[in-house]
Amino acid sequence: MLLKVNKSLNFSSKTRSLRDIRYLIIHYSGMQSGRVSMDRLKNSKSKVSCHYFIERNGSIFRMVKDNKIAWHAGKSKWKDLKNLNKHSIGIEIQNKGHFINYQNFPKKQISSLIKLIKLLMKKYKIKKENILGHSDIAPLRKLDPGEKFPWNFLSKKGVAIWYPQNKLKTHNTELKNMRKFFFRNIYKIGYRFFSLSKKSNKDRKIIMAFQRRFLPKEVNGKITEKTLKISQLLT
Ligand SMILES: [Zn+2]
Repeated sequence: MLLKVNKSLNFSSKTRSLRDIRYLIIHYSGMQSGRVSMDRLKNSKSKVSCHYFIERNGSIFRMVKDNKIAWHAGKSKWKDLKNLNKHSIGIEIQNKGHFINYQNFPKKQISSLIKLIKLLMKKYKIKKENILGHSDIAPLRKLDPGEKFPWNFLSKKGVAIWYPQNKLKTHNTELKNMRKFFFRNIYKIGYRFFSLSKKSNKDRKIIMAFQRRFLPKEVNGKITEKTLKISQLLT
């Protein structure tokens, strides 16, 4: 695979063991162009970076070496981990994002991404359930890569999880205590930043993060029957 290099010096001084790499985090850049995004990911004042950047035409740039800790996840949680930078590789893909003009992801960009993910999964023995979006690990702050990102397609290529779609129609679900069951399910999957017992105004954002990932046509922040069923089929 052809990798171009566009080095960023935004990484922690301490080198990590390659065994620490257990997750891949997918981001969109949320900026006007690939050039502007990469400039920011290199700027020492921005304090952000990623390991790989993928342009809309599919060109892949390595910005930080895998054994360095890049600064892409920020305040984040997944399962028992807090701040996933140390344990992950960050991949940014160019997209103007929700606050400028959220775009579809071109085929070329996605096929480069899948090739890169396959290579990294093999190299570091990363499980497909550990391929996550930024909004999965920081649901209160982040929307990326968002509802246009083709997680279902990635799952068909073996590089992401999905629920058994054929079971959605026949699967019965209890419609009482929906909040309790939904949050218990997504807690098992790995989502955090909520209380299992107490409702809060943060719930909506967490439900939306889950829907952006697994029910991208119905991102409404409500625990619908379908939302609940999908959460069950994933556990
Ligand atoms: Zn991000």
